[in-house]
Amino acid sequence: MSNSPLVNYTKISPNSSARGAKIDTITIHHMAGNLSVEACAEVFQNTSRQASSNYGVGTDGRIGLYVPENRRAWTSSNRDNDNRAITIEVANNGGAPNWPVSDKALQATIDLCVDICQRNGIARLNFTGDKTGNLTMHKWFTNTLCPGPYLSGKFQYIADQVNARLGTTEQPKKETYPGSTTVYHVQLGAFEKKSWAEKKRQALEADGFDAYLACVDSCLWRLQVGNFAEKVEAEKMLAKLKEAGYSGFVTLLSGKVETPAAAPKKSDDRIAQEVVWGQWGNGAERKQRLTAAGYDYDVIQAKVNVLMGR
Ligand SMILES: [Zn+2]
Repeated sequence: MSNSPLVNYTKISPNSSARGAKIDTITIHHMAGNLSVEACAEVFQNTSRQASSNYGVGTDGRIGLYVPENRRAWTSSNRDNDNRAITIEVANNGGAPNWPVSDKALQATIDLCVDICQRNGIARLNFTGDKTGNLTMHKWFTNTLCPGPYLSGKFQYIADQVNARLGTTEQPKKETYPGSTTVYHVQLGAFEKKSWAEKKRQALEADGFDAYLACVDSCLWRLQVGNFAEKVEAEKMLAKLKEAGYSGFVTLLSGKVETPAAAPKKSDDRIAQEVVWGQWGNGAERKQRLTAAGYDYDVIQAKVNVLMGR
């Protein structure tokens, strides 16, 4: 088993164990500080801290090796995860609450992920928003902010970039319905986490509805019922669902909301907090998703600015 040729600096940490599983996962952490790859190495030399990672990435984009890939680093508060994962600590060029990383560090992290996948036969980085994927977050295993809001919001981007370079980008499946170019669905919710959507789907199934998940824009898992050529048919299904105690709305295949959303909305303050936590992405993506979910982008952004002390 090899280590990355992209490494600029090596100092092996005494904090590691034999690796107990095949490498098929990557876990990206943040340092919660602006440590150079050399300074991070010193932290991991300390045996009383019981901490390490396979790699570190500095704000300058340089890469450090601390635990060879054939060893298990002690990074994610979870032995099973660290057994199968290559772990990467990325330096922050800013502090709380957003814990940003530099563009150079982000790019170097993507380069390193591509290299790790290629050398370890990982065909694709699958970010599912939960532990079922092979791009994982420390905060899913223990009570920590790591990898922080900024990096958390970049995981889908990182996976997309890596997969494009691995040449394994899956085209979204085109749904085809003979004789109809417009298809209506009843949508009951859109979820960050597939596991949440799946839980609600099972409840619907138990109530006799044939519900399914649609990942329309790769950001959200939409829980939907029905494929109807006529809007009135979708409205009939919506009425049935409402009788059964569900709320939803009729949408088109594109995910465009066809009638005003009746889905329960969260408060603007709550959404602003979620934005700070990195759950709504950045820039144009954030604006598009907030608007699609029925929130006023300008109102939310103003609250975010207050939360961030801008
Ligand atoms: Zn971490």
